[in-house]
Amino acid sequence: MDNIRNFCIIAHIDHGKSTLADRLLEFTGTVSKREMKAQILDSMDLERERGITIKLTPVRMDYTLRGKNYILNLIDTPGHVDFNYEVSRSLAAVEGAILLVDATQGVQAQTIGNLYLALDQNLTIIPVINKIDLPSAKIVETKQEIINLIGCKEEDILSVSAKTGEGVEKILQKVVEIIPSPKGALDKPLRALIFDSVYDDYRGVVAYVRLIDGRATRGNKIFFQATEKESDIIEVGFFKPKYSASSQISAGEIGYIVTGFKNIEGCRVGDTIVLKETKNVASLPGYKEVNPMVFAGVFCQQGNDFERLREAILKLKLNDSALTFEAEHSPALGFGFRCGFLGLLHLDIFRERLEREYNLKIIITVPSVAYKVTKTDGEKIIIKSPQELPDPTNIKQIEEPLVKADIVSPKEFIGAIMQLVQEKHGTYTNTEYLDSNRAILHYQIPLASILVDFYDRLKSISSGYASLNYELSAYQSAKVVKLKIVVAEEEVEALSSLVYEEEAYRAGRVVVEKLKASLPRQMFEIKIQAGIGSKVLAAERIPAMRKDVLAKMSGGDWTRKMKLLQKQKAGKKKMLAKGRVEIPSETYLAILKR
Ligand code: GDP
Ligand code: MG
Repeated sequence: MDNIRNFCIIAHIDHGKSTLADRLLEFTGTVSKREMKAQILDSMDLERERGITIKLTPVRMDYTLRGKNYILNLIDTPGHVDFNYEVSRSLAAVEGAILLVDATQGVQAQTIGNLYLALDQNLTIIPVINKIDLPSAKIVETKQEIINLIGCKEEDILSVSAKTGEGVEKILQKVVEIIPSPKGALDKPLRALIFDSVYDDYRGVVAYVRLIDGRATRGNKIFFQATEKESDIIEVGFFKPKYSASSQISAGEIGYIVTGFKNIEGCRVGDTIVLKETKNVASLPGYKEVNPMVFAGVFCQQGNDFERLREAILKLKLNDSALTFEAEHSPALGFGFRCGFLGLLHLDIFRERLEREYNLKIIITVPSVAYKVTKTDGEKIIIKSPQELPDPTNIKQIEEPLVKADIVSPKEFIGAIMQLVQEKHGTYTNTEYLDSNRAILHYQIPLASILVDFYDRLKSISSGYASLNYELSAYQSAKVVKLKIVVAEEEVEALSSLVYEEEAYRAGRVVVEKLKASLPRQMFEIKIQAGIGSKVLAAERIPAMRKDVLAKMSGGDWTRKMKLLQKQKAGKKKMLAKGRVEIPSETYLAILKR
């Protein structure tokens, strides 16, 4: 096992992780020049188009240093805070991490966030400065920031260009030299940690594993300790980076096991796979469960797609262990699911995957955080949707989730950031300095305010320089109400939302105006209202469409004209009384799009 090194690359988003992985794959000959393409480990279409990594990706490389052959297992990780769970699971499968910092940006909020995740796992850190080929690279300053952050020596920091390949070989040498080889025992019974899993159309359920002890061979009877399911190993192998079958995988290695499962229930991320004959060995610690922070209803635009939606969510869940879902029914939208996400980017990626990979047209309701509600009779409940909010007369207290937010910014923007945070109901904790120019500001901010437009505003007031990282920290009492949207006297549940009482008027105005602009006219007048309980806060009307009943009449008898117009008026009256407005899905989308 002393020839194995397992490591991750961690960094703030866009600092060059996937590009560095490309160079490492190229340098070690894992991928031939002909097969090479930029950010090759970002295999999802969505990742490639958006240029972001969503999923962790393992890959095995062979490397020879001073005549000795090594196996290097690399896991590329996402940088965005919404995908932190992917990062922490990757970190639990390795012994070291390359901490990559873009020399044109310096240390940013998620550099620090991801570094702490790695330190929590006691990993060996290799600090690396990237993008030194760019004229705007601030190598000296960035080094100083890294030294201040992790207390290393200047000569411990490598400087590379993941684009040109300069300095990249030094990283491989350093990985071999300072990252410890895995501990564990080949001669003990098999214990494999599942750090990810996917559903593959041909193979069924595939578990991505880090073997701690023992070996796994095709044909072995295996047992999943948490789910208590058993199965036969259909195939084992390594990631090169495609599946590459092998006769066995053994302690210290990272690879995959084709489980033989056709559905996902048996294979859970964090579970330990053992041999059936030695199923009494102790489980590995696994992962702490992640708690979703944002919830939204997910419905089909076409009612008869429900079964397909269910199937699709089940498959996505296998590959996205942070996703949660429970069945939900809405009178207007039919059967669907209330899904939980780690943030809005996570939600957005989920929506796009459903649409692209499963060809489903869906409607997603206004996202909400989870509130703790104490009722007057003392009962405590957690609500994740406006519909669940009890009648105001039965509510004693509502508490909202707060996050601990770390904002890294050049000094000159601190004033503007303070103002933004204040407007968003945040409270200041303290400031630390990375160096004489850049600060880390610590705040407590309601999660709900971070969700709306916080990140975009932060970027715009700081000309793109400030960065944000956050984690759930506590709950605090808040004045929250259900903003009800009524169209043609009927409540439209999918558009109602939970808002701060003081912001209800403004929020209601916005929805009413958007509805007015996007709802198609009907033969009758449509009343649109936003309100709290029976109180109307904002209202608009969409006038009736006037069909030109006289169009076909040229000249002629005016009494007949009058009769036709009279008839039209009567008809309209009837429709006004009975008018039901089908809200087209485009309208939902127009309003729910922020
Ligand atoms: P990730 O989000 O950390 O995986 O970052 P990517 O690898 O996707 O890189 C983000 C962007 O930076 C891409 O446009 C890369 O081409 C670019 N990039 C990465 N490394 C370098 C480098 O060393 N020099 C230059 N000039 N650009 C780089
Ligand atoms: Mg990437």
